[in-house]
Amino acid sequence: MLNRYREEYFINLNPIQAGGKTNSLIRKVATNFVDGYSICDYCAGALHRIEKPPVCKLIIDLAKFLGTDEVVLTHGAREGKFMVMNLLLDPGDVIIIDSNRHYSTYVATEGVKARVYEVPCTSYPYFEITPDAYEETIKEIIKKEGTSPKLALLTHVDGDYGNLTNALEISSICKKYEIPFLLNAAYTAGRMKVNAKELGVDFLVCSCHKSFGIPGPLGILGISEKYKDIFLKKSEKYPKKDISLLGCTSRSASTATLIETLPHLENRVENYEEEVEKARFFVERMESLGEIKQIGVKPKKHDLIRLETPFLYEMGLKHRKKGYFLYEELQDRGITGLTPGQTKWFKISTYGLTWKQVKYLVGAFEEIVHQETNNF
Ligand SMILES: *Cc1c(COP(=O)(O)O)cnc(C)c1O
Repeated sequence: MLNRYREEYFINLNPIQAGGKTNSLIRKVATNFVDGYSICDYCAGALHRIEKPPVCKLIIDLAKFLGTDEVVLTHGAREGKFMVMNLLLDPGDVIIIDSNRHYSTYVATEGVKARVYEVPCTSYPYFEITPDAYEETIKEIIKKEGTSPKLALLTHVDGDYGNLTNALEISSICKKYEIPFLLNAAYTAGRMKVNAKELGVDFLVCSCHKSFGIPGPLGILGISEKYKDIFLKKSEKYPKKDISLLGCTSRSASTATLIETLPHLENRVENYEEEVEKARFFVERMESLGEIKQIGVKPKKHDLIRLETPFLYEMGLKHRKKGYFLYEELQDRGITGLTPGQTKWFKISTYGLTWKQVKYLVGAFEEIVHQETNNF
């Protein structure tokens, strides 16, 4: 039988997994709805209208939680992005995206055959996407193409550096040039408060398996009133079925767990500042250990941390286990989630750890650094 014990026996630092960890309640609900199509017991033709379990209420509550006019469930953030591009862009149309975008953003643009302009980020070590650079790129597009891009996408927090972008300022710039604005909140919504209206967002995509503490696969696409008709267009032959959703999306335990978890998320996002404090504390202590440096904007405004660690690389060169020493030393201390063998730099997240765990983590790194130096 397949088994996985990582969350039970280890402190797991893998940033893509930190916000998707489940608790016992969510695991129970997932088990209750594990059978195929079990969400459909009382379905009258559309997933989002099911009253038992209350999927229809979930849709209303999500719209309130995210500050969007309309909400549809997708299988993930990427499906939401692809849906927006597919409905708004014709082949050859221009889209503007930030250069810190997720690979799935780029792949989606290929899927719709859009032409891409990327907003450059600032140089090493910050890699920041600034509103100025965003506006400059729009101007450059207008100059070259004679018209503004058909769609603008911004990654709210990227997965390489954990940089939080200024969505509000960039959405105002897009309004000025009348460009529909899509915010990719895969790493933010569910962790911190994200309100589409307050941020001036036309389309908001979320990843529930990344940031809502549920198994997924599940995503949310928030849509502003203005675009409602394009997105919620019904089939002529089957008038209950949304064309863009091919009728229904997530027909499994994922939707049931989202219903269960949403009320708790309202509290969870209230604790975001403390999550940021943990990340800052970790960075500060790590940087005091030696030649270790946080990459990306400082101080941290998100829990995803990228560290450049030439110091650990040097240690690995002298170690009999080479670069694997770090992974193994951490594993021996009940810590996992780094890429085995990687020592020049790594990404981790402290999201959801208790202060005691964060301090234990720092202590473990201190021990590894000192012990190894003495043991060569
Ligand atoms: C993880 C991630 C995605 C992919 O999310 P899915 O829900 O798995 O499609 C997209 N964008 C960013 C910025 C991410 O970090």
